[in-house]
Amino acid sequence: MHGGKRLLTVLILIGLALGCVAGQWLYDPDYSAHDAREKIKQARAHLDDPAGGEISTQRLIRLRQLAGAEPWHFHKHGDALRYLYFIGNNIFMKALKMLIIPLVMSSVIVGVISVGDFSRLGRIGLKTLIYYFATMFVAVTIGLVLVNAIRPGDRIEQTQREEAPTTYRETGKEQRVEANAPPGLGGALLNIVDQMIPANPIAAAAAGRPLPVICFSLLFGVLLTMIGPQGRVVGQFFEAIFEVMMRMVGLVLWMAPVGVFCLVAWSLARIGFGVFATAIGTYMLTVLTGLGIHALIILPLLLWIFSRTKPWKFFNQMRQALATAGGTASSSATLPVTIRCAEDAGVSKKAAGFVLPLGATINMDGTALYEAVAVVFLAQAWGVEIGLQQNVIIALTATLAAVGAAGIPEAGLVTMAIVVAAVNQSVLGPDPTTRTIPLAAIGLIIGVDRILDMCRTSINVWGDAVGAMIISRTEPDEPVQDS
Ligand code: ASP
Repeated sequence: MHGGKRLLTVLILIGLALGCVAGQWLYDPDYSAHDAREKIKQARAHLDDPAGGEISTQRLIRLRQLAGAEPWHFHKHGDALRYLYFIGNNIFMKALKMLIIPLVMSSVIVGVISVGDFSRLGRIGLKTLIYYFATMFVAVTIGLVLVNAIRPGDRIEQTQREEAPTTYRETGKEQRVEANAPPGLGGALLNIVDQMIPANPIAAAAAGRPLPVICFSLLFGVLLTMIGPQGRVVGQFFEAIFEVMMRMVGLVLWMAPVGVFCLVAWSLARIGFGVFATAIGTYMLTVLTGLGIHALIILPLLLWIFSRTKPWKFFNQMRQALATAGGTASSSATLPVTIRCAEDAGVSKKAAGFVLPLGATINMDGTALYEAVAVVFLAQAWGVEIGLQQNVIIALTATLAAVGAAGIPEAGLVTMAIVVAAVNQSVLGPDPTTRTIPLAAIGLIIGVDRILDMCRTSINVWGDAVGAMIISRTEPDEPVQDS
């Protein structure tokens, strides 16, 4: 590895480790997101209807501040958290997000051009999709075996069940979660297809939605190779954009040590590692064990069998991307770093350009495993019987829900509603007393979701990288013919 890159990797890992330490150090055991949301609600109500008439200007300013605050502003270290959030989210995450659309567009077009012919592209596309679905399905199966064996839901107490709906309603996730629930399995499929076709590619790009941009660029790239010499100029244009974007990634990455530190510290300061010792902690450990098995056994085995690449070496080469994924909890924001690391590790241009962007939006092994474990956990906590039929349904819908989840923080939590709805549909019978999982049960796990999100996103990115290396080795570049 080049000296500068090695230094950067070390700095990012130090940022990650220090972020964990600082997060735990800043942790405020008295902080309750629930109480904080109550205070915000009261301030808003008071502003709308000031009891007793006139309010002084100073009080009005204070009330407005409170009404517009985030719950974590009420944390003992609210000011520190505000700066951490600003640097991590408003500077580092934004800088990464700024790269996504131009990078996705140019990398997919360059990737398609480098594949050359259409039938080869079809074969690579098919292999890529088989890899994505097969690995997600394996991940889900690992999660299901673990959660059924460990049964973390049995440890949940009545009071925790009673508090869950309030948390669920207050966090403002209600609408987003419920929008996912009604479509069921067929609806989930249609939703994915619907997302792929942009009515207006410029609007999709402006809205920062990678999936429609990928689909448009794929088609554009294929047709570009078919129009002869005119197409070559445009191809070179996108190659130049791609090179510039990669250099920009190189620059933005120097912010990563501080950015990752801030994001990790901000996340952990609100949760604290002590959560692992609670009943929810057993659920979290179940998810983490599953992620560990998938990332350290299954994916390395596949990597070795299909590409003869040394897993540990490749893992090391991907460390910048994996740490960035952990910090940002977003596969899409990490994509620029993933492409850069994968190219440096020897992944071909076509695999890096084509397999990785697609993977960042649809291949989510970690999310699929997490959704399956979470839904069975909630079923156990609410006393819903999960038999073989329900396990199969969960395996299928969790895979689809993960495909449909965007590569952004907490997307998996929201699309989990699809899995909950499918399980409920299958347990409902003629008996009116049959128990189902209330959607509001998700409130039980919202509070700890960020830690799991950081971990599952790293595994999502690791799965993408392994897939790109496998495709790269099994579909080697053909020597370029000089005309
Ligand atoms: N944050 C994850 C990702 O970007 C998606 C999820 O919420 O599971 O890959």
